[in-house]
Amino acid sequence: MTKLTIALSKGRILKDTLPLLKQVGIELLDDPKESRKLILRTTQDNISVVVVRPTDVPTFVQYGAADIGVTGKDVLMEHGAQGVYEPLDLGIARCKLMVAGMEGVDWKQPRLRVATKYTNLARAFFAGRGQQAEMIKLYGAMELAPIVGLADVIVDLVDTGNTLKANGLIPFEEIADISSRLVVNKAAMKTKYNEIQKFIEQVQDIVS
Ligand code: AMP
Repeated sequence: MTKLTIALSKGRILKDTLPLLKQVGIELLDDPKESRKLILRTTQDNISVVVVRPTDVPTFVQYGAADIGVTGKDVLMEHGAQGVYEPLDLGIARCKLMVAGMEGVDWKQPRLRVATKYTNLARAFFAGRGQQAEMIKLYGAMELAPIVGLADVIVDLVDTGNTLKANGLIPFEEIADISSRLVVNKAAMKTKYNEIQKFIEQVQDIVS
């Protein structure tokens, strides 16, 4: 039987992905929170799952370590996602990638300091507007940067807006609508066409 490996994103996306997989008859036999195993078995003998950081999913799929992956559009845009197909918008973990900062800050000024983990995306966005943006790479707590004077603005994901509000920040501009996507290794799409196409169609039926 042809084996399939699916790379799932830890955290918020995983919570929304597991119910989708369940609907196509794939359930984890090991609890990703309890188990120390990195390769998890599922109710389908030929399908195994790895749970990794969202930013690592494109790498696993690009190199064929996983045939299929689920990760955010933000990650795919930042990563470049060469060598993977992106056949399906799963419509889960929806949010917006936004420019935000403290009220009164002129975010349209020609030179700007930007705190973000999306340095490629943010640089391209501001360059496209003719603004010269210096990137301050952070891995978390972006909201702190404008408050302590580390940056003029942040570029980050916004869902309810509660995190911005709680830190006295306001959204200035939307860069992109974000949701989680299914990605597929290009070689696997050929060599395991029947299994992968069947999986895509089953998931598509649920999300459409
Ligand atoms: P919120 O307070 O609901 O606007 O959520 C904002 C915080 O959650 C920020 O720290 C974001 O980086 C994070 N966040 C929001 N939506 C997502 C998502 N879909 N995936 C990952 N992180 C998210």
